[in-house]
Amino acid sequence: MTQQSKLSRRDFLSISALAFSGAVLSSCAPAVAQPAAQPTAEAAVTSADEAIQRLKEGNLRYVGNKTVDPNQTEARRVELAGGQHPFATILGCVDSRVPPELVFDRGLGDLFVIRTAGQVVDKAVLGSIEFGAAELGIPLIVVLGHEKCGAVKATIETLAANGEAEGSIAYLVEGITPAVEKAKGQAGDELDNVVRANVGLVVEALNKSTILSEAVSAGKLKIVGGRYDLDTGAVEFIA
Ligand SMILES: [Zn+2]
Repeated sequence: MTQQSKLSRRDFLSISALAFSGAVLSSCAPAVAQPAAQPTAEAAVTSADEAIQRLKEGNLRYVGNKTVDPNQTEARRVELAGGQHPFATILGCVDSRVPPELVFDRGLGDLFVIRTAGQVVDKAVLGSIEFGAAELGIPLIVVLGHEKCGAVKATIETLAANGEAEGSIAYLVEGITPAVEKAKGQAGDELDNVVRANVGLVVEALNKSTILSEAVSAGKLKIVGGRYDLDTGAVEFIA
C-alpha cells in the first residue's frame, strides 16, 4: 500500500468518526480493519534493549508488508527542529536495496544513519558514530551488512585474481580484506560467510574506540551486528 493510499484511508476513517455518533458508529459501521496504529505517542527509548526491540518490531512490519511509516508528519518535522534524539545508529552499506529507514519502518529523527560500501570504517565514519554516542547519547549501534553485498563480492574477486582495485575503491577492498581472510576455510557460501565475518570485524573495530568502549563499559551503549536478507527483507541480529 502506498503512503498516499494509507493517508487517504486515515483521512476517510477520521471523517467517518466525525460524521457518525459513537452509538451509530458502533451499531451500523461495518467491521473495517483499522490500519496499524501510528506510533506517534511512543515512549522515549531509554536503553539499547528497547532500541533493538523497536528495530525488530519495525522490521517485522516491513517484512509483513504492514508498515505504518511512523514519524513522517509535518508535526514531527516541526517538533524535531528543536532537537534530535535518535534511538539507534545504523552503520549500513550504500547498497540501494538496504535503506535503514525503510527496512526498520522508521521516520524522521529516529535513526542516525551512516552508509559506506561494505560498512568500511574510516575516520569520518568513526567520528560520526562517536558523535552520535557522545553528543546525542544514542544507546545502540547496529552494523548492518547484507546478503550479496557487491563491495564484499568485489573484494573476494579482486583477491582471488591477485588484482588491484582502481582508484579509491582499493581503500574499500583493503578495508574488507580481513573479513575474506577470516572466513577462509569456512563451510557454506563464501560470499555470505565474508558478509558475516565483515560485520563481526566492524563491530570489533568499533569496540576499539575509546569513546565507544567506555560507553559500552558504563552500560550506556551496545554495539551489535545485523544481516539483511534481500529476499525476505528480514534483519537477523548477529554478533
Ligand atoms: Zn553492500
